[in-house]
Amino acid sequence: MAILVFFVCHWFLSLFAQTFFLHRYSSHKMFKMNKFWERFFYSFTFITQGSSFLNPRAYAILHRMHHAYSDTEKDPHSPHFFKDVWHMTMETKNIYMDYLLYKKEPEPAFRGNYPTWPIIDRISDLWVTRIAFAVGYTAFYVAFATHWWMYLLLPIHYFMGPIHGAIVNWCGHKYGYSNFDNHDHSKNSLPLDFLMMGELFQNNHHKRPNDPNFAKKWFEVDPTWPLMRAMHALRIIRLRKTYPPTKSHLRVIRAEEQLVIAEETESV
Ligand SMILES: [Zn+2]
Ligand SMILES: [Zn+2]
Repeated sequence: MAILVFFVCHWFLSLFAQTFFLHRYSSHKMFKMNKFWERFFYSFTFITQGSSFLNPRAYAILHRMHHAYSDTEKDPHSPHFFKDVWHMTMETKNIYMDYLLYKKEPEPAFRGNYPTWPIIDRISDLWVTRIAFAVGYTAFYVAFATHWWMYLLLPIHYFMGPIHGAIVNWCGHKYGYSNFDNHDHSKNSLPLDFLMMGELFQNNHHKRPNDPNFAKKWFEVDPTWPLMRAMHALRIIRLRKTYPPTKSHLRVIRAEEQLVIAEETESV
């Protein structure tokens, strides 16, 4: 029982960190929050993803590339260019490492406007940190596992972040139905996405990349959306004013983003 609770908590807390902080905030800036809350959720993401923490800057660059080049050869992780999920994930990892270690400069369009926290970025990527988290998960299993087969779940804990990414990147562009023609292979895999907290509405999300609610039809449920509404009501985050954004509002958002990107580039 303790193992099941631990597994479910780790799955959903780290998944929430990924969809809410890495995806909807760092990559898309669907909402704003002050420095305190930004650092709170940065730490939250570090603690919950633990041994497989994904750096928000590198995540954002890869994810913006994915939107710009969805299911073309320049897409960092289109399932239509790899023979299986393993090869796709390994190639994604290589591109991710290039940006994580500043080996490669991203195209200007994908730069800037993502959170960074140098000390956490450094600590989170140390082997000693990653191994310490893995030892922690293993120790929990040693203390509470009641059957040998439970240990088979341990690798999922070790690689939680990339596993979530692989499920979304593979299934979300391969299996399911489409509401919109986005000129790619994006799909909605689960009408009630209880498994991936809304991430499997890829078809809806590629149609409206800055809309914080990934569900579009009456029968679709994005479990992260009500949580974001609640955080907005509690003033933890500030959602952008109009949803769905009007065309003129979108122009304002783009202009604002360009400005921020330009300012950050100048100050480098
Ligand atoms: Zn996608
Ligand atoms: Zn996205």
